[in-house]
Amino acid sequence: MSFRLKTVLGIALIELTVMAVLIAINQFALGGSATTQLYQRAEATARVFANTVADAVIATDLATLDATIETAVSSEELTYLRVKHPSGVVLSQGGVETALAAPFVRDASFDDARSDHLIDIDLPIEVEGSTFGTLELGLSTLAVEKELAQALFWNILIAVIGMSLVAVFGFGLGTLLTQQLQWLRQGALDVAHGNLQSQIEVKGRDELADTAKCFNHMSKTLARDRRILQDQQDELLAKRARVEVLVGCLRDISQRSATIDVPDTDRTDEIGDMARATVVFQHAMQAIEQAGREQQQLISAFDQVEEQVAIFTEDGQVLFLNAAFRSFNKDILADLPSDFCLRSFLETGLEQSAFPGVEDPATWVDDQIQRGHGIPREVRRNPDRILLTVQSYVDGIGTVLSAKDITDLRQSEHQLIHASKLATLGEMATGVAHELNQPLGVIRMASTTCVKRIDRDKAEIDYLRGKLIRIGEQTERASQIINHMRIFGRKAEGVNHPFDLRDSLQEMSALARTQLHTLDIALKLAIPETEATVVGEKVIFEQVLLNLISNARDAIEAGEAGEGQISISAEFATDQGHVIEVRDTGGGIPEDVLDKLFEPFFTTKGPGKGTGLGLSISFGTIRDMAGSISATNQDGGACFRIVLPDAGHGLHSLSA
Ligand code: ADP
Repeated sequence: MSFRLKTVLGIALIELTVMAVLIAINQFALGGSATTQLYQRAEATARVFANTVADAVIATDLATLDATIETAVSSEELTYLRVKHPSGVVLSQGGVETALAAPFVRDASFDDARSDHLIDIDLPIEVEGSTFGTLELGLSTLAVEKELAQALFWNILIAVIGMSLVAVFGFGLGTLLTQQLQWLRQGALDVAHGNLQSQIEVKGRDELADTAKCFNHMSKTLARDRRILQDQQDELLAKRARVEVLVGCLRDISQRSATIDVPDTDRTDEIGDMARATVVFQHAMQAIEQAGREQQQLISAFDQVEEQVAIFTEDGQVLFLNAAFRSFNKDILADLPSDFCLRSFLETGLEQSAFPGVEDPATWVDDQIQRGHGIPREVRRNPDRILLTVQSYVDGIGTVLSAKDITDLRQSEHQLIHASKLATLGEMATGVAHELNQPLGVIRMASTTCVKRIDRDKAEIDYLRGKLIRIGEQTERASQIINHMRIFGRKAEGVNHPFDLRDSLQEMSALARTQLHTLDIALKLAIPETEATVVGEKVIFEQVLLNLISNARDAIEAGEAGEGQISISAEFATDQGHVIEVRDTGGGIPEDVLDKLFEPFFTTKGPGKGTGLGLSISFGTIRDMAGSISATNQDGGACFRIVLPDAGHGLHSLSA
């Protein structure tokens, strides 16, 4: 229901109520007074006629009575008039026949008369207290009722006219009031349909006008905000288009590895940031590709090298194996998953007996994994191979394990050492012969004297016994010399064992002393009495000592004095380890060759005399024992210092 209709209906309802009340009051007041007056008039008329006809009734003058009644009923109001004798006999009557014919019933009020539209009233005709008859009278109520009906008609007509006017005015007022609301509604619909320019005509200064102003302000604000939004949307769409271009660039860079001219890098907004980030991404991609190429080159380079290379992550998981590693260890790798770790590699190798000579597998595996950085170790591999392995830790990558097959090198070294020993033996031959000559001379002389005594029968038994004991002692001495030479002539086995340094130092000194003695070179040995255990191949280590003694001898012999002294001293279990020093009085090493001494084939000796291999082999031997050797000049001679780690308390950590 519209606001206007509600207004009209509301006003009409009020009007209807008011009019109904007014009409009711009017009708009540009008009807009440008219009917009362009519009833009173009927009573008054009855009294007048009762007085008028009293004389005629007393006189029983019926003619006068009839004339009076005829005159009376000729008026329109009086419907009938009847005069009765106290006996009930009608003396005279006149008026409307139907009314006269109806039985008389007195009406006590106007309302009783409504049924027959007659006020029926009777009155006794009395004179001086005596009743002579009864007057009955019927007064018509039609005139009054007609007047009342007309009044009601006019009231209703006025009410209808009033209501119509109210309806018309109400409609006009409603229309006036709802006009602004209509505009507001239309404006709201316009806004709803997107026409934010819609403005409402503002009329007057009432609340609706205020509402219209608010609406206009609202639509202006909305229009402004929409413009801003539209601008922002346009801007965003433009940026989105640029972003799509940049995303395309990123895709091309990542998919096709293409070098692309990235647009918008000079912009100062987010697109510019993104464009510059894209350029950075392109550079990063190029760097990654370059790194990938270099990695590939590195891998192929690693694959080319003969040395085995394996790289494990910091967690111990395999990262890379070069071709040499894969080929050499193919049997172990066949039993491993692709993501194996260093521990499982070693354990699988042990299960396959690929690492011979390992006494305690669990400790050995742990020891291999926790090896020192960059320290070379020999590892034996079946069948009969020796690998020189180095384990290095590279920050950010993990463990790099390299292994070089040095079996052939070791064999050559052993051959060299053996050849060198034989050479040493050869050099010693003169001295040995001299040394052997002495006991042999003693034996010869003792046996000759014994034979002479026996021939002369002067061979007392005690004399012979003494000589034979002397012969036995000399034989023992000769046998010791020969034993020394035999031990020294042994071939190296290529197996490391713990041994006491003192034994080697004493045995080699004894062996060398034999020869040096003939050359007037004294050999002094000063070593502690405590045990000094090291791990290595004893025979090879002894060759190092003999090399140093031989070089010292050569230096002394080359000197002008021709005689000299070699001192071998030792200090065991120092902070650095066991320290051995071999000094001589041969004049020292020229300063300019000090740093070349340990290079292979470096020699200052003449052709046929020096090979230049003695010190380089010694260097390798000491290095393999995890020790060091260095040379200095001291007190008019050379001093070679050897430092070896103690193996007395931790054989495993040093045993390789
Ligand atoms: P070789 O003895 O066959 O020359 P080495 O490797 O044993 O080979 O020695 C290399 C060089 O070192 C020698 O030629 C010599 O010049 C020098 N040298 C070694 N020991 C001494 C020493 N005790 N005194 C002086 N020079 C020495």
